Order: sequence, then structure tokens, then C-alpha cells
Amino acid sequence: MAEIESGDRFDYIIVGAGSAGCVLANRLTEDPNVTVALLEAGGKNDGLLVKMPAGVGNLISTKGATNWGFETTPQAFMDGRRLYQPRGRGWGGSSAINGMIYIRGHARDYDNWRQMGLTGWGYADVLPYFKRSQHHEDGADAWNGAGGPLWVSRGPPGDPIYKAFIHAGKQAGYPVTRDFNGHQQEGVGPYHLTIRDGERWSAAAAYLKPIAGVRPNLKIISNAHAGRIIIERKTAVGVEFAAGPGKPVQNVYAKREVLVCGGAFQSPHLLLLSGIGPADELKKMGVPVEHDAPEVGRNLQDHLDASVIYEMTKPISMYSKTKGLKQPMIGLQYLFTKQGHGRTNHLHAGAFLKTRGELDRPDIQIHLVNALMQDHARVKADRDGFTLHVCQLRPDSRGTVTLASRNPFDAPSIDPRYLAEENDRRTMRDSVRIVRDIVGQDALKRYRGAEFKPGEHIRTDSEIDAWIRQNAETIYHPVGTCRMGADDNAPVDEELRVRGIDSLRVIDASVMPTLIGGNTNAPTIMIAEKLSDMLRGKPLLPPQDAPILEDQRIAV
Ligand SMILES: Cc1cc2nc3c(=O)[nH]c(=O)nc-3n(C[C@H](O)[C@H](O)[C@H](O)COP(=O)(O)OP(=O)(O)OC[C@H]3O[C@@H](n4cnc5c(N)ncnc54)[C@H](O)[C@@H]3O)c2cc1C
Repeated sequence: MAEIESGDRFDYIIVGAGSAGCVLANRLTEDPNVTVALLEAGGKNDGLLVKMPAGVGNLISTKGATNWGFETTPQAFMDGRRLYQPRGRGWGGSSAINGMIYIRGHARDYDNWRQMGLTGWGYADVLPYFKRSQHHEDGADAWNGAGGPLWVSRGPPGDPIYKAFIHAGKQAGYPVTRDFNGHQQEGVGPYHLTIRDGERWSAAAAYLKPIAGVRPNLKIISNAHAGRIIIERKTAVGVEFAAGPGKPVQNVYAKREVLVCGGAFQSPHLLLLSGIGPADELKKMGVPVEHDAPEVGRNLQDHLDASVIYEMTKPISMYSKTKGLKQPMIGLQYLFTKQGHGRTNHLHAGAFLKTRGELDRPDIQIHLVNALMQDHARVKADRDGFTLHVCQLRPDSRGTVTLASRNPFDAPSIDPRYLAEENDRRTMRDSVRIVRDIVGQDALKRYRGAEFKPGEHIRTDSEIDAWIRQNAETIYHPVGTCRMGADDNAPVDEELRVRGIDSLRVIDASVMPTLIGGNTNAPTIMIAEKLSDMLRGKPLLPPQDAPILEDQRIAV
């Protein structure tokens, strides 16, 4: 790993080449006078499975070079289960293994942030940054951008099940929404995807690969696991890293700032290992306290998800498409022609719905997968089927990330405390009933077989609750563990500076103070885009408003 001399100095050190880290590496080095070292624990992620959108199931289900494969602590409100927590590792981070769904959340989510005192983070403030990051293949409009690095496509219409689902949603009384990021989120509709010409368009594909080896002011150091931020007199001056346990430790120094982009589990982990966190907890672990920051690792929020699964009466799901030798053939066809079932993620439709009419915005999201998908695809399907993932968008439950040990190579202790709050249990229960109602509509009749999970016999509140406790899983959107806030307890301020330590910021999904109503890749990229302007001292993009259904906005 002698890619740099231990002790080298750069203007900025970025820890983590994930969704946020790739954006920052690109934007900061647009200025040829600025030098950046990007440290990433994983490798380049240039294998076929990362490139081929259909590789997603394999990436999610397999712990290894591209997936940290964490686990939660036993969940107190889920019968003591430990839940699997995949996280991306290597260039692109979680955007290299994610489902490629392009969603920004609801306008009100950002207006809420502004209401919390976070100046500059309302919907009108963040919209220009979403647009700047984006290239929508349909071109620009009031909501979408064109010409940015992050390619967004409509994707093919996909299998007939997707169209039938949208039709069934309409029959159940919901609006049809053609662009969930447009003027109305609520409804059933097609997903737009971060796929470009049949290739996964991760943050690395969009922001990092085009400049890697091209800009002399950017040094990318792969297989570099940061173990500690070096702090002198309350100022971050560098980072200690190694290729793995027992490997030589190297130091790299920052002339300006250290930017932590390790994601919602590993950014608080690195701060805690560096002595920034709740003093009593750090002392218990024997970590010298640099700054008592009681909320580092607190406020963990995630989307808990129930998989309602149906058998399928026609042989048109992924099972029939990949049976026997068909799967390797799909890989070969993709490899040589970039055509066939490998070109897409098989996630083409979904919904944002309200469990109660009086809510001001959708509180659940559905992802339809044309496969009988159990346990993050870790259980192999043995028949045709389709799966409706349904998750609660804004849980009340709050969890923690804490140190399991002082060893940086040990995983952090992750306790999301799923279903700790009654509102979360109720919403999840209602969401299962809503999915059943949609699937029960005529439009899905020709594909709908028996209900495989939960199964017809699970009907009462307590039966559904028990089934959720025993079967629900994450749908991969942890945030909030280094929350940005205007109050003194918030680990970072609205410019994402770590309170109490100079020259240190956290920039990634962990800073979101509340979970947004949707998938979290585009919002994380937006956050990093905005921060890059702040770091470069550039004037922020002027706020822009786009027409959003009036009841979705908050007057400020
Ligand atoms: C399986 C899965 C499916 C998902 N599906 C979708 C989807 O379809 N649409 C969507 O919008 N969102 C999706 N998400 C969520 C989205 O991808 C993430 O919210 C987003 O990528 C988070 O970005 P980040 O920059 O915060 O962290 P990450 O992208 O996770 O990046 C963190 C990086 O830091 C590195 N790192 C961590 N610790 C260290 C250390 N100590 N030293 C050096 N490097 C370190 C990691 O290896 C990683 O590369 C999914 C996530 C997962 C895991």
C-alpha cells in the first residue's frame, strides 16, 4: 500500500469513497490548486456484478469485498432477532451495491429541516443541488436537471407485472405518479433509476472514475481503513490508517480539513474511536476523550421493511428467467453485448402512500420486485413469485451506534431499536393491509397466486404484529447518527462542522437530522454537492422553487 509516504500532506483528507466522498473528491479537485487524499477501506469495485444492474441481488446478499455485511444487536422489540445490515465498501460505497432507485424524498422533509433552524436546507435551497448533480435522460424540467454527473433514466417498462401493479394501485383508489420527484410524490408509479445505458451509475461511476488518474491533485488510496482522526489541540490534523489488521499503520496529514464520509454506521464509529462522543461511554471503552459530544452515534433512524410475497401464476418472474443455465447465460450475454436481463435492476415500480387520510404526506413506500425475494435474496427462490417490500418512511424509533471495542477493524455495535414506538408498529401493520388491498385488485388477478408471506392465516392485529417482528428487515437507509442541528448538542452544525473540534466535518447520510421519505442515495449526493460549494467558498446556488402540490409544502 506504499501509495503515499507516511506523513504526506494534502489540503483535504476525505475518509470514505461512498456516495458523499466521491462527490467531494470530484468537486474539490476541480480547483487545480487544491490537493485531496481520498482514503477508502475497500477496493476499486470494477467487477462485472457492480457494473451489471442485475448483479444487485448478489451484491446485497454477499458479505465480502464490496459489502461490509454488518449485523444489528439483538432487537428488543423484534423477538431478539439480529438483523442483517449490508453496506457498500470500496469505490462508490453503498451506491455500488444499492438498488439504483432515484428518489429524493418529500419537499416537506427539507422544509422541516429548515423549520428546525437549519438555514439553507429547505426544499427550495436543496432543489438546485439535486438538479446540479443530475443528468435526467429526458432532459431538464422544473424538478430535474440535465448535464450533471449522476445519470438518471426511466428504465425499460420491464415485465408486465409492473404495469399491472400500477393499474392495481389505480383500481385501489391511488393516483398514478409518473415522477415521484416531481410535483406530487403520493401515488403508484414507475421508478427512475441511476442506470446509464445498461450500467449501474454509482457515485463512483458518476464522479470518481472519470477523474481517477486524470487529476494530479487527487490521490485515491484504496484499501486504506481509517482507524483514528489525529487531533492536536482540538483541531483535526490528519488520519491514521492501515490496509487491515496487523498491517503497518500510516499517517496522512491535512493542511485544511478532514472530511469524514464513512456513512451512517462508520462515520460515528470513526469519531468515537477518535475520542469524539459521549465522554462516559468513551471512558468505559478506554478511549481518551478529545471532546464530549453526547449525541455522536445517537438518533439512528432506518427504514424497516416487510416483504409481502405472492406466488405467481405465470412463469415470468426472475425465477423462470434465471433457472438452470439461464443465469450464467445472462451474465455472458451482458458481458459481451450489454443486452438482456442483466441490463436492469428488476425494480421498476412502487408507491408512496398514506396509511391515514389526515397525514400531510405519504408515510409508507412500496418497492415491487419481480421475484420471490426472501431475506435480502439470501434464500434462493424455488418458484415464480413477486414481492412487495413495504417500509415506514418516518419512524419514531431512535437507535444508536456505539463502540463494540477499541479495535477499528471490529464492526460498530448497531442498535436501531426498530419498532420501539407504537406508531411504528401500527404503521407497519397498516402497510401490510394496504399492500394486500392493492394486490387483491382485478388488475393483478392474472399473475396473483397464493399469498406466500405472511400467508392468508395471518389476519388479526396481533398476528400481523408478530409476523412483522419475526420477519421485517432493513431496506437500507440508516441516517442521523451525526445529526446536523442548530442546537449545541447536535454533533455537527448546518455547515456540517463537528462541534468542539476544528477543521473536521462529517458529510454523508449520517448528518440527516430526520429520515427523508424515500431512498437516501440522491439526498446524500445532494448534501455533498452543497458542502463542496461551502468548502470552496463559492456562493451557494440561489434557491429555486418548483411547483409542488400545495398541501405538501410548509410556509416558512
Ligand atoms: C443494499 C442497499 C440498497 C440500497 N438501495 C438504494 C436505492 O435503491 N436508492 C437509494 O437512493 N438508496 C439506496 N440505498 C442507500 C444509499 O445507497 C445510501 O444511503 C448512500 O449510498 C449512503 O452514502 P454515504 O456516503 O453516506 O455512505 P456510503 O456510500 O456507504 O459510503 C461510505 C464509504 O466509506 C467507506 N468507509 C467506511 N469506514 C471507513 C474507514 N474507517 N476508512 C476508510 N473508508 C471507510 C466505506 O467502505 C464506503 O465506501 C441502499 C443502500 C444499500 C446498502
